Amino acid sequence: MDLPLLGALEGGGTKMVCAVGTADGTVLDRASFETGLPETTLPRLIHYFQDKGIQALGIGSFGPVDLRAESKTYGYITSTPKPGWAYIPFMPILRDALEIPVAFDNDVNAAALGEWKLGAGCGLNSLVYITVGTGVGAGIVAEGRLVHGLVHPELGHMLLRPEPGEINPRGVCPYHDGCLEGLASGPSIQKRWNMPARELPPDHRAWELETGYLAQCCANVIVAYSPERIVLGGGVMQQEFLYSRIRARTLELLGGYVRSDIIERTPETYIVPPALGNNSAVVGALLLANQIIHPDRG
Ligand code: ADP
Ligand code: ZN
Repeated sequence: MDLPLLGALEGGGTKMVCAVGTADGTVLDRASFETGLPETTLPRLIHYFQDKGIQALGIGSFGPVDLRAESKTYGYITSTPKPGWAYIPFMPILRDALEIPVAFDNDVNAAALGEWKLGAGCGLNSLVYITVGTGVGAGIVAEGRLVHGLVHPELGHMLLRPEPGEINPRGVCPYHDGCLEGLASGPSIQKRWNMPARELPPDHRAWELETGYLAQCCANVIVAYSPERIVLGGGVMQQEFLYSRIRARTLELLGGYVRSDIIERTPETYIVPPALGNNSAVVGALLLANQIIHPDRG
């Protein structure tokens, strides 16, 4: 039997990626729209999905979002500074217009789900997916399910100690003094060195600091969740030399306390790039759509 057609929407603050595919991760069609004001953007999304014959839609949205199913504002984008998008009923508008079941989660949870089920975490029971780009976000899979918690985890805002030689220890996050996003996101690197991250050569001091912060994050994640694998993605991780440096520094920071052959002997299988490239969230959104029509197949 043919797999049902499903819709996927990766709702980003810069662009909206729409796709049609199936629950095995096959993407059959894809289109991308600039994220303008909701009154112009939402009709474009509805128009894209309207005649595609999809049975359900999965959305992975930029946040903050309300993920509590019992809440009056479930499926809304909440307190975003993005002009026009604060308190927009993102999911309800699409559900009512398309008249199909619509599943909703945040963008990093969708990406974590995609990587877990069909990417770098295939077959595992736990995984932490971290994206280091314009912001730093993370999705946590523990005991075979995505962790939502009270609001949703915000590992990107974990507090870190300044690396030696740090010239901007407060970082660029408007909320926190020295959080991961404030110290290690693409814009924080650009602000510190007055140069876009992608233009800094591999031997630049910038990458020692970046390695230090991302290794602090990995060490914190390991002691907090003990995941079976950590996936590091996002624009900044295009600098592939970072992986081996972060693995080595993470081991140093753990100081031999966490005993695991996987972490200690084969760290190259433990801290890894995404296997789905830039499709992690779209594939995850297809899986979210499938879950809403087949809740038993998690
Ligand atoms: P977003 O986080 O906006 O969804 P990305 O994950 O692609 O998208 O992150 C974009 C950020 O990543 C840019 O602001 C830039 O700082 C950084 N970046 C993009 N490409 C590279 C690169 N090749 N090397 C280092 N940093 C990069
Ligand atoms: Zn912060």
